[in-house]
Amino acid sequence: MSDFFKTKLGYATVVVVLSISALLGTKFTYDYFHLKQNKAYLEDLNARLLVRTELAADYAILALHEATLSVADGCSAENIANLSSILYSRGNIKDIAILDQSGNISCTVITNEDAVEQFNLADKKTFLSVNDNIKFLEAGRGEDGLIGISWQFETFALMALINLDTLLFDIFPPDWRDNSVASIGFDAENLIGARDNTMAAPEGLVTYNAASKRYPLFVELSVKEQQLITHQRDNELAFMLGGGGIGLIISLLVAQLLSRPINPVTLIKRGISDEEFVPYVQPLFDLKNRQIIGGEALMRWVKPDGEMIPPYKFIPIAEDSGLIVPMTRTIIRQTLNQVADILNRDHSFKISFNIIPTDLASDSFVKDLSDIVGRANVRPEQIVLEITERQEIEDTNKTIEHIQILKDLGFRVALDDTGTGHNGLSYVQDLQADIIKIDKKFVDFISDDGGDEIVQMLVQLAKRMKMETIAEGIETEDQARILTKLGVDQGQGYLVAKPMPPEEFCARVNKQRIA
Ligand code: C2E
Ligand code: CA
Ligand code: CA
Repeated sequence: MSDFFKTKLGYATVVVVLSISALLGTKFTYDYFHLKQNKAYLEDLNARLLVRTELAADYAILALHEATLSVADGCSAENIANLSSILYSRGNIKDIAILDQSGNISCTVITNEDAVEQFNLADKKTFLSVNDNIKFLEAGRGEDGLIGISWQFETFALMALINLDTLLFDIFPPDWRDNSVASIGFDAENLIGARDNTMAAPEGLVTYNAASKRYPLFVELSVKEQQLITHQRDNELAFMLGGGGIGLIISLLVAQLLSRPINPVTLIKRGISDEEFVPYVQPLFDLKNRQIIGGEALMRWVKPDGEMIPPYKFIPIAEDSGLIVPMTRTIIRQTLNQVADILNRDHSFKISFNIIPTDLASDSFVKDLSDIVGRANVRPEQIVLEITERQEIEDTNKTIEHIQILKDLGFRVALDDTGTGHNGLSYVQDLQADIIKIDKKFVDFISDDGGDEIVQMLVQLAKRMKMETIAEGIETEDQARILTKLGVDQGQGYLVAKPMPPEEFCARVNKQRIA
């Protein structure tokens, strides 16, 4: 899965999925806070309505107080005239009445006699304010917003009639008017005025209400939630662009992070556990008759999709990280399992493995190798260990000691890439190997016009030390002919065969046996 993020499609998927999530997240956040904000606004409107309602009551009470200063007991023409001038200076007061001892209307400034006759205070519900002498009462039919506020003085009482309905008029912003309810009353049960604009569909309302602490006054505002959601979304685009932009930047960063190449050592470890490292085998042949007389196991990394990674891309990393040690064990085990039959049928047939010097010098090598070879039921005499000269030998004594032990056990040792490293030729002598492998670099040089000095020298050195020679990288008949003439014993190269899967190698060897 993690490899998917390293593809172009994976990168794009991360960017798209995260960006869409960011947009959805931004939208969700915007919706949540926008609704919250509009609810707070509605609550604020409700609080403001209560303040305005209380102010209306305050004005009425102020007017009544002013009236007591200029009005004495009774309905004299002078009293009425005084009340009249107060009434005209106080806009929201509809009428002022003088009440008798028992609280009934004696006279009013405006209302005609008939209406007053019908107005029976005893029928009206009365609500007390904090001040016992000031009472609030229903004055109209209970829904027209009219209330009376009466103030009881020693010998008489005054009552102001005010209309609270007008306060409900412009309380909402225009787009809420059609989907809202505004009510005013003495308390939640005793409403005196309401503007219901829900079109008889009162569901989905968000409601706030509040009661005055000073007066028996109560206000309540409700708006359809849908209206709160759609109200004033003009900043939405900017918000979405901001959120989406930040989301895009973050998704690019995350995609970048996920698409980072994985550490090659980690990749190799994964390849080991997934058994992706397999041996190929390249034939070694007798230069005189071209008969295959052995093979070299060469490691290949085959990815699940079939891609084959060549050794130069991973062997140096495997060597530096020490992973080459378990990998080598696996390659030896796998190869021997597959070529054991050939080895057992022909005891002169040999198979070689590439071993790095530090592995050879390690304490576990001899035992590991003996175990694997023993279990594969193969004779050590048929196993060749190629030790490269490319790496410097750190512990020469240990290496020489181990080579001796291995040789005593019957194994054969070859010096690989001889003459290309930094150890010098004396090292050929010191290590007491059985075989010198002449590197492709020197084979490439030779022609009928010369360039064969190093090969000649290596052949002489080998003869003197009773070692065999194998020339690597033979691609042409000319090279094969010249190498034979120079006295090289065996060859390896594309001229005869490239490295191939072990089954193919076995098939080829078997075919040769029959022929
Ligand atoms: P090497 O041990 O010198 O192996 C010989 C290399 O020469 C192989 O390359 C082989 O495919 C190549 N070769 C043989 N004949 C010809 C030819 O005619 N023409 C050309 N152009 N090339 C030829 P390969 O398989 O790519 O391996 C490269 C190196 O990787 C090996 O060089 C060896 O040093 C290392 N290696 C491979 N397998 C292992 C392993 O299991 N363990 C260790 N430690 N190293 C390995
Ligand atoms: Ca080799
Ligand atoms: Ca070589």
